[in-house]
Amino acid sequence: MSDSMKTAEVLEGANSMLAFDVERVRADFPILHQEIYGQPLVYLDNGASAQCPRAVIDSMSEVYETYYANVHRGVHYLSQRSTDAFEGAREKVARFINAASADEIVFARGTTEAINLVADSFGRAFLEPGDEVIISHMEHHSNIVPWQLLRDRAGIVLKVIPIDDSGNLVMEAYRELLGPRTKLVAITHVANSIGTIVPVKEVARLAHAVGAKVLIDGAQAVPHLQVDVQDLGVDFYAFSSHKLYGPTGIGVLWGRFDLLNALPPYQGGGDMIQRVTLEKSEFKAAPHRFEAGTPAIVEAVGLGVAIDYVTALGLDNIAAHEHGILAYATAKLSAVEGLEIVGTAEDKAAIVSFTMLGAHPHDIGTILDRTGVAVRAGHHCAEPTMDRFGVDATARASFGLYNTREEVDQLVEGLMLVKEFFG
Ligand code: PLP
Repeated sequence: MSDSMKTAEVLEGANSMLAFDVERVRADFPILHQEIYGQPLVYLDNGASAQCPRAVIDSMSEVYETYYANVHRGVHYLSQRSTDAFEGAREKVARFINAASADEIVFARGTTEAINLVADSFGRAFLEPGDEVIISHMEHHSNIVPWQLLRDRAGIVLKVIPIDDSGNLVMEAYRELLGPRTKLVAITHVANSIGTIVPVKEVARLAHAVGAKVLIDGAQAVPHLQVDVQDLGVDFYAFSSHKLYGPTGIGVLWGRFDLLNALPPYQGGGDMIQRVTLEKSEFKAAPHRFEAGTPAIVEAVGLGVAIDYVTALGLDNIAAHEHGILAYATAKLSAVEGLEIVGTAEDKAAIVSFTMLGAHPHDIGTILDRTGVAVRAGHHCAEPTMDRFGVDATARASFGLYNTREEVDQLVEGLMLVKEFFG
């Protein structure tokens, strides 16, 4: 290697370190700087909800303090300002996932509501008894139950792609499930309970080959991966703000505009209509026809700032940092005697689910809590995945952009206490 190439490599490494200084990042998150039971907080429950940086919190206070008013319907200054901020957030979301336009962005309460919207509206418009919807064996309940409800209501057939012992999607089985009656493939991008990253681009290509549409549950993907909906070639993409360092109460359904605009409204009410008489109503075009009632205005602004925040850090830098943490945590946890990692797919986001011999996951979670370490214990709203691995629950450490190797060490120290207690 020439000297100039070496220098370029070193500079590139230094640049990415400068771009991602975890201590500087941590300083942006007020909640992290506290003790729990006398121990420094180690927050490893980011898969459930990630914490908000100061910029997000401040942006929401600013709305309440300076321009809080309802959107769209007011001619006064405050209403126009809040409308601009709300619609500005929609544009930020569109850029974030590379949507073709902000008109493709529907604000919903979260991933759950976004999926229910598609199940209801797409189901009513396009599905007939006997039509098939395919999901996978590693879905969150929010991408299972809406389809079961639709099955029971509309007579569709629900099919399930199996996963192997590591938690990889079995692609040969998927190919065999696809057929002329397949109308929709609804699948997670990253499995919340075991961390598998699903090859959604290939999933979409195969689905489109039989004329089916594709809905991606991106709740666990957007905080970890750069998502480009056009490059993925999918038709719908859903995610929640609160896993992306934004507030609760808001999420996103992205859909290709022609498809979205062909769907009937999900809920009726104010703000989604063109004209109402006592006999009938005419609806606005997408996305507004899906946003009945007063939306989560302040939360949309917060989500927009969360997007600014992760974009400024760079999703690639975040992914590289988290990948390092995941590799470190996987090695450290694998060395703990009696600990078994559930979900060892080749391509994983920064989520480690595990069980320990003799200790129930709830006991693991409770003991860790006393050492300041917050993990989730339970079925993670993914009971079929738990069933697949023959467990009723796991403990789950899910990492975010502000976690460090020292925190992994603190997790492992806590697990040693668990071992002492139950070993
Ligand atoms: N899908 C996945 C993969 C998730 O992890 C979650 C939340 O944990 C959801 C859907 C539901 O998200 P929300 O509760 O924000 O609607």
